[in-house]
Amino acid sequence: MDNNGAAGTITREPLLNAEPVIQLRLLELQDRDTHLAQIDHKVRTLPEAARLAELAARLIRVLDEITAAETIAGDLRLGQARADADVEQVRERARRDQELLDSGSINDPKQLQSLQHELGSLARRQSELEDVELEVMERVEGALAAVRQLTGERDQLEIEQLEVTSALEGLMAGITAERDATAAERASIKAEIPDELLALYEKIRVDRDGRGAARIYRGQCEGCRMQLPPSEIDALRNAAPDAVIRCEECRRILIRTAESGL
Ligand SMILES: [Zn+2]
Repeated sequence: MDNNGAAGTITREPLLNAEPVIQLRLLELQDRDTHLAQIDHKVRTLPEAARLAELAARLIRVLDEITAAETIAGDLRLGQARADADVEQVRERARRDQELLDSGSINDPKQLQSLQHELGSLARRQSELEDVELEVMERVEGALAAVRQLTGERDQLEIEQLEVTSALEGLMAGITAERDATAAERASIKAEIPDELLALYEKIRVDRDGRGAARIYRGQCEGCRMQLPPSEIDALRNAAPDAVIRCEECRRILIRTAESGL
């Protein structure tokens, strides 16, 4: 074994030793950590969660629009009440004039003429006011139709919100169970790993995209995918089985298995 030559390049760190079976457990720990990270990523990117956020935003907008449409409808209704009252006032006056005319109590021709003239004006005025009344009524109808359309839209959004919430809850129950089971496995594996090795693994895992340990597979580091140079392969072949070795490229802990190609 050449401890001063090529092997020296692999173990620049203070020498750390762990039985091969423990090193393999480190690979299992990595497997659980990778799985946990995948689960967390899945939770963050669930389409149902994005849809819920979108529905909530749309609901806020629609509720605002309903308030605005109801305010417009309310104002128009007040206008309609005024127009109704205006028409009623003219009708009432025309009715009184007509009664007076029909009573035969007015004999003065000038007075009669004036009364007939007023009835004619009142009829024209009533017709004008009825046109206004009709126009306001149509605008009220339009405003109420807008309110109905918006409340219908709101109801649809709320129905979908309930459906998506329920689907998301179902999904999350499954995901949480899977996460809990994986975290429990991780805890039991972790308990078997010596503190120093665990600390090194955790440090590299944080620095290196969630991967602290990687298998050597057919002469390649599975962490950074680098093909190990022949000199390093030689050094690995000669290294003690319990030596903790690291990739020269990515610095991850390298785990030797039967498929490492050494
Ligand atoms: Zn590497």
